[in-house]
Amino acid sequence: MSPPDPPFADEHDELRASVRGFIERELAPHAQRWEEEQWFPDEVFPKMAAQGLLGLKYPEEYGGQGGDYLHEAVLCEEMARVGSGGTAAGIGAHINIATPPIWKFGDEQQKRRYLEPAIRGERIGALGITEPGAGSDVAAISTRAERVDGGFVVNGEKTYITNGVRAHFIVTAVKTTPEGGHDGISFLIVERGEGVGSSALHKLGWHASDTATIAFEDVFVPEENLLGELNSGFKLIMANFQWERLAMALGAVGAMQLAFERTAAFAGERHAFGRALSGHQAIRHRLADMATSVYTCRCVTYDALRRFVGGEDPLKEVTMAKLLTQRAAFELMDECLQIHGGAGYMREYWVERAARDARLGPIGGGSDEIMREILGRVLGL
Ligand SMILES: Cc1cc2nc3c(=O)[nH]c(=O)nc-3n(C[C@H](O)[C@H](O)[C@H](O)COP(=O)(O)OP(=O)(O)OC[C@H]3O[C@@H](n4cnc5c(N)ncnc54)[C@H](O)[C@@H]3O)c2cc1C
Repeated sequence: MSPPDPPFADEHDELRASVRGFIERELAPHAQRWEEEQWFPDEVFPKMAAQGLLGLKYPEEYGGQGGDYLHEAVLCEEMARVGSGGTAAGIGAHINIATPPIWKFGDEQQKRRYLEPAIRGERIGALGITEPGAGSDVAAISTRAERVDGGFVVNGEKTYITNGVRAHFIVTAVKTTPEGGHDGISFLIVERGEGVGSSALHKLGWHASDTATIAFEDVFVPEENLLGELNSGFKLIMANFQWERLAMALGAVGAMQLAFERTAAFAGERHAFGRALSGHQAIRHRLADMATSVYTCRCVTYDALRRFVGGEDPLKEVTMAKLLTQRAAFELMDECLQIHGGAGYMREYWVERAARDARLGPIGGGSDEIMREILGRVLGL
């Protein structure tokens, strides 16, 4: 059963086949080790860049592939096949949240200094918004940037930042008025250097990803690293939310599809009480529900994607896709784990990791509750 297509054409199918081949050959075989080491190597960035995968949607003049969000959508889905949510998250943070603001709001010099080497995989980016005292309530951030001669001095702390230890630059939200809030936030591109300290955090899932708290202590940031206009950082945050959430929905759909395929195969092979697990109606019905869930999530996500690439501002559809897919993915992984029985609880089975990794979806990139708040507003409830 094929879902209502976004405008995917033959070129996207070809890209999908080539990305999948690369992932299965070059990344997936290492996933288990990277998860155990709680780190995937920095070399993965240039390796992906050599395939053009860090710049699919970026213009050729900056070293990108000159494609668009549809090409990137293919990559977002396929990254699930690495089999390590943490690796997908580290790459995803670089291409889906750290570099887009530079592409959209950066001046020519900033694009040359940060976007180009990021597309080449030579410099790794992170996006620093969340703080110990402000997550969902973005406007409440307290990291401040004081004006000084030639730039700013930054003090404060960010937390849960993906690529937070390894990033060469952090696209950082700061308060640039004493009050902060919607009209007092700006973005600075902060280079790792004096006064920037990171400490790694340990997590339930996404083990291979680098998640950190970053402390800024009297960090001088030159004027030319102000991204976009002063005090208009909130606009910059909002500008990329739709894509970030769509990327998460696509990632969930890719992961759900893979988990369903693997679990259906397992249920066909594993026997209990004289027949395959899928020969038991209770299990077969669960698999049927799972297939329905994957299909529904794909339809809703592709519909939002189609609208997004068509130039609409599909806030409602993207928000629904994010809300639906993240919870559905977690529930589906739990079902898959259950069907695997004791094996599902074991480290060496993919599903144990997939279930842990899927728990982040309803929290990150705007939690389920925040999605419902947005929908409440959009629907006039
Ligand atoms: C592994 C990981 C990676 C991350 N990567 C990044 C990153 O790269 N960059 C970055 O900036 N951030 C990152 N984050 C942070 C993430 O975006 C936040 O955790 C998320 O936005 C929630 O914020 P919080 O953790 O402060 O929770 P809080 O905002 O404190 O919320 C706590 C709970 O209260 C609920 N809640 C909050 N407000 C309301 C409300 N109005 N009504 C009802 N319920 C509400 C929330 O939904 C949640 O369930 C990451 C987080 C994790 C766990």
